[in-house]
Amino acid sequence: MTDAGGTREYDGIVLGAGISGLVSASVLLEKGARSVLVIDEYAKVGGNHLDFEIDGYTFDVGSLIFQDDSPLLHRFPELLPQYVPVEPSWSRLNPQGKVTDYPISLKDDLLAAGPLAWTAMAGSLVASRVRYRHQRNARDFTRFWVGAKAAQRTGLEHYVERFCGLPAERIDLDFAKARMMWIADNARVWPRVAAVGRRIGRKLSPHREAAQPAPARRVQQLVRPREGFGALYRPVVDRLEAEGVEFMLATPSTAIERADDTMVVRTAAGAFSSPMLVSTVPTHRALALAGAEAEPLPTVTIITLLCSFAGRRGFDTSILYNFSHGGSWKRLTMHSDFYGQERGREYFCVEVVGSPSVRTVAQAERAFRDHTSANDLFDGDLRVEGGHVLDSVYPVFTEGSAARAAEQVARLKQLGVTSLGKQGGFEYQPTARVSTRHAERALGGKVSPK
Ligand SMILES: Cc1cc2nc3c(=O)[nH]c(=O)nc-3n(C[C@H](O)[C@H](O)[C@H](O)COP(=O)(O)OP(=O)(O)OC[C@H]3O[C@@H](n4cnc5c(N)ncnc54)[C@H](O)[C@@H]3O)c2cc1C
Repeated sequence: MTDAGGTREYDGIVLGAGISGLVSASVLLEKGARSVLVIDEYAKVGGNHLDFEIDGYTFDVGSLIFQDDSPLLHRFPELLPQYVPVEPSWSRLNPQGKVTDYPISLKDDLLAAGPLAWTAMAGSLVASRVRYRHQRNARDFTRFWVGAKAAQRTGLEHYVERFCGLPAERIDLDFAKARMMWIADNARVWPRVAAVGRRIGRKLSPHREAAQPAPARRVQQLVRPREGFGALYRPVVDRLEAEGVEFMLATPSTAIERADDTMVVRTAAGAFSSPMLVSTVPTHRALALAGAEAEPLPTVTIITLLCSFAGRRGFDTSILYNFSHGGSWKRLTMHSDFYGQERGREYFCVEVVGSPSVRTVAQAERAFRDHTSANDLFDGDLRVEGGHVLDSVYPVFTEGSAARAAEQVARLKQLGVTSLGKQGGFEYQPTARVSTRHAERALGGKVSPK
């Protein structure tokens, strides 16, 4: 419907067509909306699920692996037939230059160190348990649980730093406690001893068949179709459109205004109004649209190198993490392991974390080539076919940024905007499964099973 001033009216408006935006539109329909407008400045749906086609190779930004038990598939079952089932494998380059188990190898990281280093690591663990019992940041947290020497030797401390683009001592403790508990879980010796004991007990038990738990359903790992994310999300767009959602892509919003109980979004393509406005774009961007001042929150910039290769590679897994002390790259994903080679060449993407010394594709390429050649990872013809710099990839929790984000979300609420998602909620949402449930919960929709 269009009002007297030419403003088109909707039951709901969503800014951003990423996972959070798609799920939000679906929840609004579920709650009774009959017309929803989704606006995004990107030309495609999927938000930061970005892919690039270069000369027959299809690359992603980042490592995008999905699972067939994801809540996203519960909400959008039409996605399942679009995915390609894969058997990915993971490994990591450790600080000793060895490609070994991810996230830690007892054999290569610890046993291989030898008796002298074991004694030093054991002593350091005891000292760290005392020294870091009052933890202040992610470095203290890591050192408390594994000891300062083991944190160095395994590359754990350096990986945390590379992940956030900041030294571990600048990463807030709350973030470590919320997101790095796997370190504590792996470092607790007694539960592991008890688990081994239980396993031995079951093997020795005369009723061991009955004592064994029912086998868990095997989760199938998935990647997007070869054609890219556009093809993946097409059936979702079709269904949402059939149910009353309109998509307005490649359309930047220029202002958000409030008139009594109605929110108005202005864009180059016209003005649109609704009693319900959901934003999934960065909080400072939404505040600026509403005419409010807000400082941008700290986020990670990822420079993605899009590479092809012919030769011998020094690892055989589809995903390789960099836990070594050098190199700015964080992770690489061999797309050709999933989709097959192209003209006899493998192809893959590399995530390089932006920093003051590495800001451009050329700088990232130089750092990657130097480091991988020093570690014998690619022996042959390595070509960088392209690159992409993406800001605001994920939030960085430093110097109270989570509290500043909560304050920005609260200000948006006062202005009549429900702000959610990875960008709009400044939340650590590593997977689409997390984003789906967050959006469902935030809008009071049916929450998909985990
Ligand atoms: C590198 C990378 C790797 C990932 N790996 C996986 C994986 O392996 N498995 C998995 O399930 N999920 C993965 N994800 C998905 C991810 O973790 C979240 O589920 C998803 O990106 C969150 O969606 P969102 O809609 O909240 O936000 P986003 O998709 O980040 O964006 C929402 C909207 O915000 C706006 N926006 C975003 N960035 C900017 C910007 N810089 N400037 C202005 N506007 C902007 C756009 O309008 C966009 O549509 C990955 C994502 C990335 C980026």
